Amino acid sequence: PAGVVTIDGPGGAGKGTIARALAERLGWHLLDSGAIYRLLALASLRADVGSSDIDRLVALAEALDIRFPTEGGDAGEVVLDGEVVSDAIRAEACGERASVLAAVPAVRQALLDRQREFRQPPGLVADGRDMGTVVFPDAPVKIFLTASAGERARRRHKQLMEQGVAANLADLLQELRARDERDTQRSVAPLRPAEDAVTIDTTELSVEAVVNAVMERVEA
Ligand code: C5P
Repeated sequence: PAGVVTIDGPGGAGKGTIARALAERLGWHLLDSGAIYRLLALASLRADVGSSDIDRLVALAEALDIRFPTEGGDAGEVVLDGEVVSDAIRAEACGERASVLAAVPAVRQALLDRQREFRQPPGLVADGRDMGTVVFPDAPVKIFLTASAGERARRRHKQLMEQGVAANLADLLQELRARDERDTQRSVAPLRPAEDAVTIDTTELSVEAVVNAVMERVEA
């Protein structure tokens, strides 16, 4: 199979930024698995499917049109029913809902093979929570990114400000902690480093420094 680098960790640790930079450097495909859970969250909100309606959630996950049309080699837009929803899925309500749906075992199962399909030559950089533990357990390079909760909240705040979205740092910190709690405590695919993962604390590192550290592992 094609090569794969997995990048897991909590929200705001820098996974998305690092994964994108790495995919660009390597010329590999990119899988933002969180976007899939967010896409399902948005689809379920729009179809008015409740988080306890497992059968309909699974049907929705199986039918979900998962495409990230690339634009000039960028990570790509996220599309739902022909509409670009890249910004809509970033809303906190969608992230919150995504983490609720992500705790449902049948939902994770329904999305498993669909995520594996992204592993195509020349290779894949996959970011999420369980890329190294569940989706690509045989990945030769597994990275687990962390950062202090305060730093992660600051990064998210900056990101939102850049998008012109008003946000309160204290609220963000609280939301991050609630999401961490749900992601690490759930019974299926809880957030944790794979046994063979390399953990990098990015609190005081630049993007460049982290990408270089990961590249060293890929080239080793
Ligand atoms: O990374 P992002 O914030 O976009 O992910 C949204 C939510 O989707 C996470 O809080 C997590 O609950 C869930 N998720 C997951 N497994 C993944 C990626 C995301 O459970 N591989």
